[in-house]
Amino acid sequence: MRIISLIAPCYNEDSVIEQYYRRICSVAEKYKEYEFEFVVVDDASVDQSLAILDRLAQSDPRLKVIHLASNVGHQTALFAGIESASGDINVTLDIDLQDPPELLSEFLAKIDLGFDVVHAQRKSRRGETPFKLISAKLFYQIIKHTSKVKIIKDCGDFRAFTKPVRLTIIRFREKHKFLRGLFVLVGFEQTIIQYERCARYGGETKYTLLKMTNLAVDAMLNFSQFPIRLMFIVSSLMWSLGFIYLIKAMFSRFVFGTAIEGWTSIIFFQVLFTGVLLFFIALLGAYIGRIYEQGQSRPLYWIRYTKNIDQDNDG
Ligand code: UDP
Ligand code: MG
Repeated sequence: MRIISLIAPCYNEDSVIEQYYRRICSVAEKYKEYEFEFVVVDDASVDQSLAILDRLAQSDPRLKVIHLASNVGHQTALFAGIESASGDINVTLDIDLQDPPELLSEFLAKIDLGFDVVHAQRKSRRGETPFKLISAKLFYQIIKHTSKVKIIKDCGDFRAFTKPVRLTIIRFREKHKFLRGLFVLVGFEQTIIQYERCARYGGETKYTLLKMTNLAVDAMLNFSQFPIRLMFIVSSLMWSLGFIYLIKAMFSRFVFGTAIEGWTSIIFFQVLFTGVLLFFIALLGAYIGRIYEQGQSRPLYWIRYTKNIDQDNDG
């Protein structure tokens, strides 16, 4: 029998886990021709999530729980789940029920047509703040114009993919992951379906402004060298400007015999150029920091213990 894996990361979600479990169980009921596995990666939660998951796993061998030993964040936790899954068809979704598991029927229809990756694109985003909506829009605009990989607008990490895609994705060992970029990068036959993004069933978003900014930076630095090109463009403009100014100064001095009164302009350029230079140094630092981290080749995540999984697989 073919296996379907539903893979969800979970961080402090004790108010939604049981409802999530009920919902996926009733979805699984409808597909008798498939075997199901429910992979949940507990990203070192500090609430009751751990106890709830273990209790559910005790009575249902389909529920495979990975308890990570330290919090690694949504993307890496999800990656740990993808790595441990064994499905012929895999679906990644949020445990807060913002991604309706009932969409499985549409995913399966596309996979039956021969697609390997099916992205779920949000038609609307219910229950999200205006700030989140605006920042998401800005994010996709910047990425669209700077990244080599065509990241799909309004697609989060709700998607279905086949086993060959899963096996490919887990070979990408970069530390700062941006999975929605990787899933486009790998190729295969891809398609998009649309859905209504629901409001959270309970609890609250774990994506603080800082985490959202970090994800955006990961997206930018992992898939684009545009920032480095930008440094080249701006610095060329800067020295051109300086050169023109120099010519003007020499012209005034030797043709008109007047020295330019320059204190204000000197300070202005000094401050401006130093600011730009420092910014660029920081930008270079961001790339170098990543090279350094990758060079350390630490494991991506590590596991405290698992439930209903035979073999431990440590990042
Ligand atoms: N999550 C995680 N580790 C974290 C933060 C979040 O595993 O450090 C999980 C969280 O439990 C949820 C998913 O990642 O299942 C998406 O997080 P959230 O719903 O807070 O993000 P949003 O939907 O608001 O973008
Ligand atoms: Mg959510």
